[in-house]
Amino acid sequence: MPQTVQLFDTAIVGAGIIGAALGHELQNRGHKVALIDQDAPGSGASFGNMASIAVTEFMPVSRPSVWLQTPRWLLDPEGPIRVAPGYVPQLVPWFLRFFKAGMPSKLRLLEAEGAALCKRALPDMQALMAGIGLSDDVSETGCLSLYANEDEFEADRERLDMLDRHGFDYEVIGGNRLRELEPEIAPVINKAVLLPDNRTVRNPVDIVTRLTEIIAARDGQIVRGEVTGFEVIGDKKTVYLNDGSHIIAKQLLICAGAFSACLVKMLGEHIPLETERGYHTQIMEPGIKINHSIIWPAKAFMVSPTASGIRVGGTVEMAGLDAAPDYRRARVTVKRALEALPDLKLEETSEWMGHRPALPDTIPVMSASGKMPGVYYSTGHGHLGLTYAATNAQLMADLICGEKPPIDMTPYSIGRF
Ligand SMILES: Cc1cc2nc3c(=O)[nH]c(=O)nc-3n(C[C@H](O)[C@H](O)[C@H](O)COP(=O)(O)OP(=O)(O)OC[C@H]3O[C@@H](n4cnc5c(N)ncnc54)[C@H](O)[C@@H]3O)c2cc1C
Repeated sequence: MPQTVQLFDTAIVGAGIIGAALGHELQNRGHKVALIDQDAPGSGASFGNMASIAVTEFMPVSRPSVWLQTPRWLLDPEGPIRVAPGYVPQLVPWFLRFFKAGMPSKLRLLEAEGAALCKRALPDMQALMAGIGLSDDVSETGCLSLYANEDEFEADRERLDMLDRHGFDYEVIGGNRLRELEPEIAPVINKAVLLPDNRTVRNPVDIVTRLTEIIAARDGQIVRGEVTGFEVIGDKKTVYLNDGSHIIAKQLLICAGAFSACLVKMLGEHIPLETERGYHTQIMEPGIKINHSIIWPAKAFMVSPTASGIRVGGTVEMAGLDAAPDYRRARVTVKRALEALPDLKLEETSEWMGHRPALPDTIPVMSASGKMPGVYYSTGHGHLGLTYAATNAQLMADLICGEKPPIDMTPYSIGRF
């Protein structure tokens, strides 16, 4: 059924956590907003992520230590990264940019650009959650990073050095203190780092649902439809939907996560966006309780306490947007998690795959179009879309409303590609 055409201040394509948080913030600033999605709000990557406000995880993914380990990881069918052989030709340009981004001359800059966002991420998210009545959904406890031996700890040293450089809190703890905090951890782990500011939300999709309910209740419109094209004529942006209807707005924002590249291309610009597919297993009846989220860097998985049990996830799979999920990837992370949490019971489980919107330099695009006034892009938040959502909303709303953002936005510009 074609929808009625109305004039909006801002049309936002993509009702994931990025689009919904930004739509909500623009509404706070007086905009009449249309939030458009082909699916139910929050059913993309924002549905099933690991629920972590992971403020210490801003290290650029491309770096020499990762390059050195990548061949070994790729040869291991249970390794943390899998590249689908048939997809390799399409990945070549992305990987060339990826290696360029990891050059030592560039690394410290990228790290500082991630840190500038992460510094604000927890307070911004807490303020957002308070504003939508979900303060209690943010945990008071942080994340534990586990190590079975000194070699594993030393291998993670570059991350701790980075946290030192940027003044992020952490505490190195031994086995006894670790077991006081998390009695279920296996004896094989005898050292950990407590990351107190890496909080967990109860259920990521609940945040999107609440945001969209508020947007709709305050005279915004949640529009269901696939965006198939645009027409930009000065102040008038027309968004065409697959049912033949269209939306007209003064400003247009693309927040379609890993699907943004083709929408950006329709607008005549380029963004080298790939999907880093990731998996989770939700364990509804885990038989144990954990108080913190848990990562084991050497085993490349994460475990989070969520509203409906324990969520296990991680891994990166480069196989494009269309390939069917390969849930063996999810089972590998569960196998690893059992090494850390041997009493975890696998009862009532569900598996899920989502698309992280990944840029080769790990830094999101939060930017005005380089070509068309009134067109904006907010995508490529990679492994940190939930973490960055509230900060992204503040910074982008400043840009869109003509206010001066509190940090320099140049590094996040689409013009860097
Ligand atoms: C396994 C996994 C674990 C993760 N863990 C964490 C974590 O713990 N912490 C963290 O900060 N981040 C995490 N992330 C990353 C985070 O989930 C993403 O960065 C974030 O959800 C991206 O949000 P988004 O709104 O940009 O995209 P999405 O949530 O994917 O939303 C994009 C929306 O755009 C819509 N769309 C696309 N094309 C069109 C079109 N043509 N027309 C209309 N609508 C369209 C889609 O339907 C979708 O709803 C994880 C990701 C994965 C996969």
